[in-house]
Amino acid sequence: MLIFPTRPLSFRKSFHFPHQFCSKTVMSTTTTATMHSSVSPSRESHEVSSSGEAGISVEEWQGWGTTSPIPAMVTQVVDDLKLLQKDSDSDMIFGGNHGKLSGDFKVQEDKKHRATYQSLGDSETKLQFFSARQIACRVLGSRGYLCQKCWLPSEDCMCSKLTSCPLWRRVRFWLYMHPKDFLRQNNTGKLLWQVFGIQAATLCLYGIAEHEEMMWDALKLAGKDKVWCLYPNKNAPAKSVKDSMAELSFAHVECPPETTDGGHSLNFILIDGTWSNSGAMFSRLKDRYELMWGDELPCITLNTGASLMHKLRPQPSWDRTCTAAAAIGLLDELHDLTNFVSYGLDKQAKAIEDAVEVLLEALTARRLRMGRSITRKQRHNRNIL
Ligand SMILES: [Zn+2]
Repeated sequence: MLIFPTRPLSFRKSFHFPHQFCSKTVMSTTTTATMHSSVSPSRESHEVSSSGEAGISVEEWQGWGTTSPIPAMVTQVVDDLKLLQKDSDSDMIFGGNHGKLSGDFKVQEDKKHRATYQSLGDSETKLQFFSARQIACRVLGSRGYLCQKCWLPSEDCMCSKLTSCPLWRRVRFWLYMHPKDFLRQNNTGKLLWQVFGIQAATLCLYGIAEHEEMMWDALKLAGKDKVWCLYPNKNAPAKSVKDSMAELSFAHVECPPETTDGGHSLNFILIDGTWSNSGAMFSRLKDRYELMWGDELPCITLNTGASLMHKLRPQPSWDRTCTAAAAIGLLDELHDLTNFVSYGLDKQAKAIEDAVEVLLEALTARRLRMGRSITRKQRHNRNIL
């Protein structure tokens, strides 16, 4: 995950804005613009009241970047939140940028969800409840505030500056994302499906059964020898991209494009969470792989030295697990292998690199703009809207 610096943005001067992409817009913002037409474009402080709003529709759910049905447990949490709102007669208010409840409602909901959590029997159900509650709050709290595609506040939407690029059809990424990273504006995993599309780079939320089943069904179809996790597994010898991939041959598996999702894809799972959360996420993947195939989940370690980080114009706070950087590193290292050289993976890596630059620019612009003062009166008016 990418952690953004809180210090002044002194790198701004050296940042090269990719003007050439402005005329090559492929990401539509029409829906977003229509959706948020009633929201003040200058709204800076975020406080959303979900009072009286309906539950989450399939369209809204899938708009955030997934093809899955609405997770049953997320629906349950939303229903419970609405019921609590009705019973407690206090408004469901979300503050901050991350869909966290605030105010009186938060106090009451805290008590309720802690009691629910304690009452759950096994750790698996507890994890699923934890994830569903995080996701539900983030979706409700971000409603009408974030652009559904780029997860930035609507006034900072960067979608029109992104250029999509098809990923070589033999490669499929899985963004195994921690619920706390879902809908975070500085998340870089989302860039993968914004650029490659949701079939080539698919979101899988940790602890959300519908997502995990969807991923494991696809992995099962691909087979145990076509699944890798990009993770430095301390308990097993680290394998490099070259060690794992140099012997693969694709000459005999060429097939029509419609079989992209089928058995011939090379599936790479990227863990999209903070370093402290990634251990539990990796364990869950490892256990499931072992249960399915009775073997150890193959791990790949990248040679992400200074060169990759330099290319991404790093800041001191760039986390070593920055998800987009992992994808770029993998594609670049694959491209260096003779059996992968003819599939344009270097250009596909560059497309993600460009998207990271667009995100940096958008976040920088937002921070600069946020530095301006906002009067109390304006803030009050915005809340009414
Ligand atoms: Zn956007």
